[in-house]
Amino acid sequence: MQLKDKVAIITGAASGIGREIAIEYAREGASVVIADLALDAASATAEEIKRSGGRAMAVAMDVTSEAQVDQGVAAVVAAFGGVDILISNAGIQIISPIVDFTFDNWKKMLAIHLDGAFLTTRACMREMIKAGKGGAIIYMGSVHSHEASPLKSAYVAAKHGLLGLARVAAKEGAKDHIRANVICPGFVRTPLVDKQIPEQAAALHISEAEVIKNVMLKETIDGEFTTTQDVAQTALWLAAFPSTALSGQSILVSHGWHMQ
Ligand code: NAD
Repeated sequence: MQLKDKVAIITGAASGIGREIAIEYAREGASVVIADLALDAASATAEEIKRSGGRAMAVAMDVTSEAQVDQGVAAVVAAFGGVDILISNAGIQIISPIVDFTFDNWKKMLAIHLDGAFLTTRACMREMIKAGKGGAIIYMGSVHSHEASPLKSAYVAAKHGLLGLARVAAKEGAKDHIRANVICPGFVRTPLVDKQIPEQAAALHISEAEVIKNVMLKETIDGEFTTTQDVAQTALWLAAFPSTALSGQSILVSHGWHMQ
């Protein structure tokens, strides 16, 4: 029970990586908040955790909305008494060459990945400072926080940006024992990636099997996908770490796709 009596808000936790972290954290004793766009999808994950004996609540939250983020975090504090851990994880992918990228899609990508990270960080840091018990902020970056790929200009720019935000949060948070770190997974088979495989095949004029082998997993050391459980275990280790010795860092979990 490494997270006993901790309260964790996880954005984008109705699906994929966020959902796995929520289940893992609940198993380790945390009260988990499933913050996602639609309340019904968030509630389904929260109910599943409660059926397994965990403590969970669902919050409808569009991370790009200042009002919804602030109200959502206030609702969590009212229900669970505070916030100890934030996992800023909500994200989408839109692929396109730069020359065809619409400005609306560019702004949408930056709003979800960067505005969302900023708004949730601000709301949670305020509560962590008020409570005086420290805290852990974890951003879901990507290998694309360190590497670039064609067709992903907005995603790569946003994921690089998270490194900067995490480093500032680490510096500002240290005096209140708030740590901030970034997890950088390789490709994980979630709906976000499953959607991309046919899109990349069409954009690059290759088969879906070639997208997996020659685009997604080409640079890994063993040709394997990272799993949601690999990422959840990393998120558990980062959240449970006892001191500000580990802050302002990014941790690659990518089968060696990127080494630093
Ligand atoms: P996913 O599509 O399975 O889940 C993403 C969740 O985010 C969904 O539940 C969706 O409803 C939610 N969401 C989207 N927009 C939102 C908004 N505005 N407000 C609140 N919630 C919103 O995707 P995933 O693969 O689990 O991705 C989670 C995070 O991990 C993303 O930040 C993604 O960039 C990152 N990531 C994924 C991979 C991968 O290969 N799957 C690799 C590296 C990083």
